[in-house]
This record gives sequence, structure tokens and C-alpha cells, in this order.
Amino acid sequence: MTHGEADYDVIVVGAGIGGIYAVHRFARQGLSVLGIEGASGVGGVWYHNRYPGARVDVDSIDYCYYFSTQIWQQWRWTERFAAQPEILAYLDFVADSFGVKQRFVFGTWVTSAQWRGDTVRYHVTTSTGLSVSCRFLVMATGQLSAARRPEFPGLERFRGEWVRTSHWPERGVGLDGRRIGIIGTGSSGVQAIPVLAQYAKHLHVFQRTANYVVPARTAPIGAAVQRGIAGQLGDERELLLATRGGTRIPVGARPLSHFSPAEQVAILERQWESGGQAMNSLFSDQSTNQESNDVVAEFVRRKVREIVRDPGLAETLCPSSYPIGTRRLCLDIGYYETFNRDNVTLIDLRCDPIAEITETGIRTQTAHHELDLIVFALGFRAFTGALDKIHIRNERGAAPTDGWARGPRTLLGLMTTGFPNLFLPTGPGSPSVLGNLFLQNEFLMDWIGDCIGYLDARGFTTIEPSEAAQDVWTAQVAEAASRLLRLRVDNYMVHVNADDKSRVFIPYTGGFDRYVRAARDTAARGYEGFVLS
Ligand code: NAP
Repeated sequence: MTHGEADYDVIVVGAGIGGIYAVHRFARQGLSVLGIEGASGVGGVWYHNRYPGARVDVDSIDYCYYFSTQIWQQWRWTERFAAQPEILAYLDFVADSFGVKQRFVFGTWVTSAQWRGDTVRYHVTTSTGLSVSCRFLVMATGQLSAARRPEFPGLERFRGEWVRTSHWPERGVGLDGRRIGIIGTGSSGVQAIPVLAQYAKHLHVFQRTANYVVPARTAPIGAAVQRGIAGQLGDERELLLATRGGTRIPVGARPLSHFSPAEQVAILERQWESGGQAMNSLFSDQSTNQESNDVVAEFVRRKVREIVRDPGLAETLCPSSYPIGTRRLCLDIGYYETFNRDNVTLIDLRCDPIAEITETGIRTQTAHHELDLIVFALGFRAFTGALDKIHIRNERGAAPTDGWARGPRTLLGLMTTGFPNLFLPTGPGSPSVLGNLFLQNEFLMDWIGDCIGYLDARGFTTIEPSEAAQDVWTAQVAEAASRLLRLRVDNYMVHVNADDKSRVFIPYTGGFDRYVRAARDTAARGYEGFVLS
């Protein structure tokens, strides 16, 4: 594809969930838009994370676009938790339905974006030599897209094959009859492990931290449910925008102590049978009250001990070092059952850490495991990884994350001071990875589109947060998380300052509903807290 003009109103980086909608939305309002994507197709994380077992962990009917009745009439989800191929096909279908691909250049990585006050533009360079400029730069690069690199000593010597779940090769990877090792038992590892075990001659699971894993219980979804939503899409969208997470996941209104022990068990059992993320929100105080949390956590541990036949193995799989829900709750299809198979071995890295990777496998302190294939499911350089990969600079030569040494600083997680016209939708300080990323992206791209329309209509050329408003929002983000048990637990959502060990929770935890109200109020008051010039 060739693009005649080098200057655009908006450049959108990334063709994932946010980028697809952004390009469509901005073009629809009459702006000239260019999308730039490194992969050869749309899909973002759903393009790259094509590991066996990959699927969504919130209901498909929540985790999809709500802006178009046409899509809802033409697309039918087959399952409660759609698998990766179906989600990728959906994103492809939406992109085709709205002519989005024609506005993208694919196979092109943005390498730098320099803001210049004299041209009032970002000047963007790319891996293919394409140079373009824009008035507004929208980073739809996602918060979990820059994968951690495996940095185990000796990896370069390994004569077998190694892959990352986050960049699973499109050509596929042979699994049949191979000796496979997998490092990492987060959401990705937990989904991949049961499938790998079905094919592997032997599967070695290298676990550093045991995670809480609850059943997904995916099942076919009827067409009637989907027709019902399609019939009143606008109302359904507003209903979702008024929830805590942008989903239909039920949230308990009463604390655990409101129920008798027998009632508590009945509620927990019902949830275990119905499956899904609601195990995180059965009781109103389980995210803040350690004793309530202990009851839920112990229930899950009891289930692990029931499922896994070897009691020692069950104990190693039981999460005990942190409260349930303080890291991403993993949904599984047969995860714990997999450890009853004869061809699966669990290696507890807390007791027996990895010493090195050898030519033929992985050596821990006490044993050598012969492998043909190593799968790394190590997670991401969350929130800042994708931004830092691109040389984004303002006129002072600063990068957006330079001022974030003690934790991210943004207004609404959307913009950061000193970077005019740079939008970071779903960024740190927004609900981000804690909220439904389809709905959140839709809401934020609408907000950005309206904002650009407002600026243009009034002759403003730039917008950025005032320092004071950014301070206030950053304090609100901290206040919202201050009572949460999850603030105390190390994981990718918590920034820990090295000197005084102070902790900053990165996403906004005040609720999607409150966030939506705050963003709408800001816009309604003429973008209060932002400096327009
Ligand atoms: P993750 O949750 O960050 O898990 C990474 C895993 O790798 C952890 O078990 C971690 O152990 C382990 N690890 C990292 N470095 C290691 C090392 N040097 N040695 C040994 N183990 C190491 O990453 P993820 O599983 O890719 O999931 C990330 C996020 O992506 C999820 O929280 C979720 O938001 C999203 N996701 C969603 C879905 C879905 O919708 N179904 C699926 C996959 C991912 P420690 O715990 O000890 O650090």
C-alpha cells in the first residue's frame, strides 16, 4: 500500500483492539488517519499470543466491541470464553467490515516520534524508512505487549527449539512426542500447560510461584443471548460502563461475615461450579480484609488437594505466599488435573532453582531435565515496555516515562505532562488491565476523538495535562488502591521504589464506573485539568 500524503491528523500505533477501533473512529469523524503496525495483520496481542490453549478469561459477550449493531448482527460467538483463533478472526472481521486495514501500514515498527513545537507535530520514523508526521499521536500499543526476554544463562547453547507464548510462531510449533519444558505459570502458562501435556512425550513444568487457578467452565453461547444484546446495544453498553470492571461479572454486595460458614461454602461451591472470574468478587471485603480473603483462598487450596492425587505435589501447587485476587486470577481448563498425568513433572523453583540452560535441556541445582523444546511464559514488561521501545521525545529531549521513576504519573492514564498531543489510552492510572479492554478502548478512543473535535472547533492546537491536575489524579489513583491487599503483593501491577520500598499500584482501582464519570466530567468542563493552547 502507498500513502500519498506524509502528514496526518492522527497516527495510531498498533492494530490491536484499541488501534482497530481508533482508526475507524477517527476516520469516521473526518480526520486523516494512518495506522502503523509491526505485525503483518491486525490483532495485537491476539495476533502474537497464538500459543496452544490461549483464550480470553472474561466472557466473550463482554470482551468485544459495543459500537456497532451491525457487528452484533453479523458475528456469533461460539463459546463463553472464546479461544484465540476465534478472537483473531473476530478482529479481522471487524477490521474488514469498516475498511480499517486500508488505513494501516503493516510490517512496520515505529522507531521514533519527535515532537516539534514549530510544526506542532510529531515526526515519526519507522523500521521501513517511512517518515510521516501527525498532529496527534495515539499509542494503541497495549500494556502487555512487550514480552520479557528469557535471560537464563546458557540459552544460546541450547540445541533444541525455544519459543515464547507471547510470540508463538505463526508457522506453528511441533509438539507431538517431544520432551517439552515450560517456565512460567501465570495466565499464559496455566492455559498452555494442559494442552502441551496432551501432545508431549513428557512435560516439565518449572514453577516459581504457584498461582490461584479456578475453572473457566467454557460452554456454547446461544444465539438468543447475543440477539438480545444486539437488540439494545446502546443500553447494554451504558450498563457495562456503569460497572466496576466493564463486565457482567457479578460483584458481591455483602462482606463474608454476613454469611454463616455453611452459606459461605455454598456460595464458594456454586461459584466453583459456574466458573469464571467472579471467585474474585464474591464478598465485598475479600480484596481488603485478610480474614475474608483467607476463607476464599483456603477454599481454592482445598480444591487443589482434592483434584491432585499426590499430596506432596498438591502442596507445591497450592498458592500460599499471597492472598487470592491480588495477582491475576487464572482460569483453567483441566490445569490441576494435568498434574495427575504420568507424563507431567512439576519442578518447584523455590526449592530447586534453575542453574543454567545446557545444550540438551535445563539444569536446576539438583537435576538435569533433557528437553527438545523450551516454552517461555515469562510475562511482559508491563505498562512502560511498549512505550520505551519507541524513541518518543519532546522538545527538551525527554521520554514520556522519564518522570515516572517513582511510579507512573498521568492524568486519567491518558496523557502525561510535557508531551502535548500524545495519548496513552489504557495507560497507567486508567483501569487498564483491570478493566474490559474492548469497552475501555472504545470509550477512550471516543473520548480522544471528541477531544480533538473540541480543540479543532475552538482553534486550539495542543493539549497536555497541567502538572497540578496530574498530581491530583496520581494521588487519587494511590488513594483508591491504598486499602487493597494487592498493593502489598509483588507483581507487574505494582511499582516498588528501590530506596524506601514505597509501593505504587499502577492501574486505577476506583472502578470503571467512577473512571468513566471522571473522564466524562473532565470533558464536559472543557477538559478541565488539561492545558489547551
Ligand atoms: P505473568 O502473569 O507475568 O506470569 C509470568 C510467569 O513467569 C510467572 O509464573 C513468573 O513467576 C514466571 N517467571 C518470570 N520470570 C521468571 C524467571 N526468571 N524464572 C522463573 N519463572 C519466571 O505473565 P502471563 O502469564 O503472560 O500473563 C500476563 C497477563 O497477560 C495476565 O495477568 C493477563 O492480564 C494477561 N493474559 C490474559 C490471558 C487471558 O485473557 N486469558 C491469557 C494470558 C495472559 P513469578 O510469579 O514467580 O514471578
